Amino acid sequence: LSSKLDSAFQKLKGESKITDVNIAETVREIRRALLDADVNYEVAKEFTNKVKERAMGEDVLTAVNPGQQFTKIVHDELTNILGQERVDISVAHTPPTVILIAGLQGSGKTTFSSKLARYLKEENNRSPIMAAADVYRPAAIDQLKTLGDSIDVPVYSIDQQDAVRAAKEAVSMAKSLALDTVIIDTAGRMHVDEEMMDEVADIKEAVEPDETLFVVDSMTGQDAVNTAKEFNETINYDGVVLTKLDGDTRGGAALSIKNVVQKPIKFVSTGEQLDALAPFYPERMSQRILGMGDVVSLVEKAQKEFDEKEAQELQKKIKSDSFDLEDFYEQLQQVKNMGNISDLVGMIPGAGQALQNSDQEINEESFKPIEAIICSMTPEEKHNPDILNATRKRRIAQGSGTRVSDINDLLKQFEQMKKMMKSFSGMGKMGQMMQGMK
Ligand code: GDP
Ligand code: MG
Repeated sequence: LSSKLDSAFQKLKGESKITDVNIAETVREIRRALLDADVNYEVAKEFTNKVKERAMGEDVLTAVNPGQQFTKIVHDELTNILGQERVDISVAHTPPTVILIAGLQGSGKTTFSSKLARYLKEENNRSPIMAAADVYRPAAIDQLKTLGDSIDVPVYSIDQQDAVRAAKEAVSMAKSLALDTVIIDTAGRMHVDEEMMDEVADIKEAVEPDETLFVVDSMTGQDAVNTAKEFNETINYDGVVLTKLDGDTRGGAALSIKNVVQKPIKFVSTGEQLDALAPFYPERMSQRILGMGDVVSLVEKAQKEFDEKEAQELQKKIKSDSFDLEDFYEQLQQVKNMGNISDLVGMIPGAGQALQNSDQEINEESFKPIEAIICSMTPEEKHNPDILNATRKRRIAQGSGTRVSDINDLLKQFEQMKKMMKSFSGMGKMGQMMQGMK
């Protein structure tokens, strides 16, 4: 028993440990990180509350690796918010499939239109045509034509400044040429204005697209959410395209938009080249947000701080001689709950490396008699083992199914460990500091 106790003491401190105290701390930090990543305040709040609830509810405290478990919860919840599965764009029963592209100026509509045309052509064997419904600037039409040329996709344009007409005629053109997909690139303004909204709404009404996609620059942060909302109210789009994810943006906009407008994100654009387009996978995006938001290191940091706090707490108890069998019992429970166990002495400043490398095997069974003995004690006895006389010991032995000699072993070892811990702590930095103050 004494050798078991010995090694139990040496393994009291868990390497990775999450408690409700540091869950709360970590969740606060995650919320801050999300806000930094341009996630809408309400969304961040709701999200972190969910994470907290789950982390408290699940057996994070007793997990093999609580840090990882916690990160997994965050990751799962992120994926949840972003949409469990990826949603494809619709295909018309009778061709052509008409896809309307809307968004602010500079968001990447023209680039995306071409990327989508290329994607559908290469990956889905479709034959697209693009419509230049951004009819106000000749440069815009030229841009689409140049892009169309580079991927060998025809572009339909007209000379008049009539976006609705350009769109409608492109659809007719597709029918007569037996092309199965029409991608309509529209004009955007710098800001949301009624004229632009009216025009997109008019085009939508005129061509009845199978799919309306809202393109948004993920670098625009909080503004992206407002724009997404306003566009959704006017044209009730089917999906969102996030562009410029190749910048150092963390993708917070994705989280907010999905949550606020409840429309799936369908594509992400990650560069100026036409092949820099990918279907949106919620799982990947949550990994991106996690990785760049550094949630993992936040968790680790919170853990470390907590461990230090706890170590100081314990050291105070040792110093003041108030470390009792109750504390010991609590520590035992923690050891049992932990997958990764490292030495108690390891966290006492000045404790030797040698003591950290105990090769004694301990398992849950080793704790049972110790636990039974401590459980059979009264609170007073746990706090002050000195009062344990022969009568009390006999009572405890009977109650715990052990022998009096086991109890004596435990007490002897407990005192030895206390003494040893005290001398270690005296050698440590804190001990030196305290001595210096005397
Ligand atoms: P539009 O005004 O909405 O049609 O936007 P454009 O398609 O003309 O794109 C505006 C600018 O953003 C151009 O310089 C594009 O090359 C650039 N752009 C578009 N998408 C991306 C992207 O995913 N990543 C990067 N880095 N640049 C992009
Ligand atoms: Mg454009």
